[in-house]
Amino acid sequence: IEFEHCGFPATLRSNLKKAGYEAPTPVQMQMVPVGLSGRDVIASADTGSGKTVAFLLPVVVRALEKPAHSAHSPVALILTPTRELAIQIERQAKELVMCLPNMRTALLVGGMPLPPQLHRLKSSIKIIIATPGRLLEILRQKAVTLNKVKVVVVDEVDTMLKMGFQQQVLEVLEQVPEEHQTLLASATIPTGTEELAARLVHDPVRIAI
Ligand code: AMP
Repeated sequence: IEFEHCGFPATLRSNLKKAGYEAPTPVQMQMVPVGLSGRDVIASADTGSGKTVAFLLPVVVRALEKPAHSAHSPVALILTPTRELAIQIERQAKELVMCLPNMRTALLVGGMPLPPQLHRLKSSIKIIIATPGRLLEILRQKAVTLNKVKVVVVDEVDTMLKMGFQQQVLEVLEQVPEEHQTLLASATIPTGTEELAARLVHDPVRIAI
């Protein structure tokens, strides 16, 4: 595939150009069409492969679809194990949504003060990028609801497990409507990861780079 032939809105195509993304990387070539089709995905792709843009493109396109009811609640949730990864994901997401209407992101991560994150949620947010512990803390305060989320990304599933976040990830996902698309990314898929993955996806397409 080429980015020009994905049926992306002109603004998104132009944002890809501005970011310097002229041609899709191999993981993007495989993951973007499947993601756009609505299927669940398990991708084994390492940092540096372009996996972030690979899951962000379907996320952005799905977030742009607009049933009126979801206008003020987040429709996409991206979970990642560390603050540093979350910051990188938000940076790339912002490049992609530049000049697109009503596509604000919120970064909800531990190790940073909570009040600004709560404040950010007072405006209309489309895409949440979060680490599991901080998101749970915010959910307990009812500062955001996940009941309009239709696409979930769990990034670095293997690292999530290594860091002991399995329960927290599952607890967050209990608050997402059953009918949603899930995109998983993991550097490797060992047995433990496979077991968690199986609980998160339905009839997934597997992508290995
Ligand atoms: P990731 O594997 O998601 O950590 O991405 C690694 C780096 O590749 C990031 O700095 C991206 O900005 C960059 N990148 C992602 N997709 C492309 C692309 N299609 N062309 C050039 N660079 C890209």
